Amino acid sequence: MTLNKAVFLDRDGTIMFDSGYVSDPEKVDIFDETVEALKALKEAGYLLVVVTNQSGIARGYFNMDELEKVNSRMCELFKEHGVLFDKIYVCPHRDEDRCTCRKPLPGLIFKAARELDIDVSVSFMIGNSRSDVHAGISAGCKLNFLIGAEKGSLSKDNTLSVGSVGDAAEIILTVDGTFDKMESQQ
Ligand SMILES: [Zn+2]
Repeated sequence: MTLNKAVFLDRDGTIMFDSGYVSDPEKVDIFDETVEALKALKEAGYLLVVVTNQSGIARGYFNMDELEKVNSRMCELFKEHGVLFDKIYVCPHRDEDRCTCRKPLPGLIFKAARELDIDVSVSFMIGNSRSDVHAGISAGCKLNFLIGAEKGSLSKDNTLSVGSVGDAAEIILTVDGTFDKMESQQ
């Protein structure tokens, strides 16, 4: 069996606007500038898997049903631009719950890997916080991108700081050779 490759994406602050414990579907605002990058990754054969900490559930700010509505709204907005996510994985806990799924722990990525037959070693993590990157490192992702930080070189932890999801996508497609193939076809 051939395993899938995936790009794991943080949600709030990475692919949609983070207004803090988003619970109202009407307030969902996606980052349009990520659309082309996500499409390119999908076309290159990557599953798009969202992995998100939603401690607002454990804190009682919203319930799973309300969270589902927010996620559905986000998916709907991306779908209008032609982007389909393969699955969204949620950690509903807070630190005190000592779960294994809250990033920086790699539980959500491992769960996705099991359920969607993903080879994590040829997959990537993109997020806007250090906990995203640490989850990717712990899970064994090939490269981990920290969005919005100052640009920097590759560290020993396979982490790269980039300005945007688009920058991350370009590097991913270069690393796996897809970008070169696209260039030579033109
Ligand atoms: Zn959890």
